[in-house]
Amino acid sequence: MRTQVGIVGAGPAGLLLSHLLHLEGIASVVLESRSREEIESTIRAGVLEQGTVDLLDRTGVGARMRREGAIHHGINLRFAGRTHRIDLRGLTGGRSIMLYAQHEVIKDLVQARLLAGGEIQFEAEGVGIEGIDGRSPRIRYRKDGQELEVTCDFVAGCDGFHGVSRAAIPGAARSEYQHLYPFGWFGILTRAPPSSDELIYARHERGFALVSTRSPQIQRLYFQCDPQDDEAGWSDARIWEEMHARLENVEGWRLSEGPILQKGIVALRSFMVEPMQHGRLFLAGDAAHIVPATGAKGLNLAAADVLVLSRALAEFFRSGKTELLDRYSATCLRRAWRAQRFSRWMTALTHRDQTDDAFTRQLQLAELEYLTSSRAASTALAENYVGLPIE
Ligand SMILES: Cc1cc2nc3c(=O)[nH]c(=O)nc-3n(C[C@H](O)[C@H](O)[C@H](O)COP(=O)(O)OP(=O)(O)OC[C@H]3O[C@@H](n4cnc5c(N)ncnc54)[C@H](O)[C@@H]3O)c2cc1C
Repeated sequence: MRTQVGIVGAGPAGLLLSHLLHLEGIASVVLESRSREEIESTIRAGVLEQGTVDLLDRTGVGARMRREGAIHHGINLRFAGRTHRIDLRGLTGGRSIMLYAQHEVIKDLVQARLLAGGEIQFEAEGVGIEGIDGRSPRIRYRKDGQELEVTCDFVAGCDGFHGVSRAAIPGAARSEYQHLYPFGWFGILTRAPPSSDELIYARHERGFALVSTRSPQIQRLYFQCDPQDDEAGWSDARIWEEMHARLENVEGWRLSEGPILQKGIVALRSFMVEPMQHGRLFLAGDAAHIVPATGAKGLNLAAADVLVLSRALAEFFRSGKTELLDRYSATCLRRAWRAQRFSRWMTALTHRDQTDDAFTRQLQLAELEYLTSSRAASTALAENYVGLPIE
């Protein structure tokens, strides 16, 4: 098989890239190790920045998001027994966020690609990338017992943190930066009505908690936990007890309970690879960077990367010019490091680090007090939360 761009991974990065390339008249093939059912049901992100929403809208894949998603104009910070609203819209000249689950974005993109005759190879095993230093890189894979190969002009590594693309860049040609956090997130999906019109980020002596929503019937709740903890040790009753304790029933507010449909623990990690390109291989999304979920930036960074990459590839295929391709990594890294900064700051602001002394915990409260009482400080939070502009 021959195509212009071979894409490894059908997550938000890979699918959106394939869609954007199609709109530019560029052919691509997407190779995904999992089944369509699996990628369309994996529960992950839910917060879309204004720029991501606009991108989905203007490229014709935003209709269901507009119908079923929920626009939020603010978020709440809860600490010391009180809730403080950050007016995202008012502080950013009208920008907001959209709550729409990542697997719904995936469904919309898969459908759009297949309707347009796009090629997605699901359950592609043993993917390997070769020849990225030459002009015709190859992606080898196995499907239905057959050894297959896609020859292309460029390879986009969109296969997430645990994929194979990043390692295709020789070790001597890449630098990796990593920070591991001493805590993880215990996440649940519950069939319950929303507890709040807008997200609640709670800082509590027992640790962080987050109240978020997926739909009028399904809520997504998280609380900070030991990343080594075993979810089997958490009965439903214990989970609710912990959520109630951290959220406190302040100002007459109550957390809605319901049957727990899914639960799981994720570790928090910050990771960056530099550069995000080598020869004819370009990394995008989680393959290149991971942020702690506190800032809700991962999916949005993936969307920004592939927008930059699609423009650069379009220019190359139109004119043969490589300026935008050459700048791809530098352009994306600038935005990604800012998202790293914001995500780490939001995490430090709201989480309980057991190694912190009492002084540091008081400083954390002072920072929250300042943030919620200063328009300048709230604006800095708001403009990062709704998303910095894509260059
Ligand atoms: C609990 C949680 C909450 C989050 N909340 C938010 C949020 O609110 N907002 C936000 O913006 N982000 C959030 N994120 C982050 C977001 O989910 C990721 O950043 C996003 O999925 C990145 O997209 P991607 O396409 O780069 O990678 P992925 O979604 O990881 O997709 C990579 C794809 O590649 C496939 N693949 C892997 N290896 C191979 C291989 N060898 N061959 C072929 N295919 C392969 C995988 O199966 C997968 O389908 C959250 C993450 C978690 C875990």
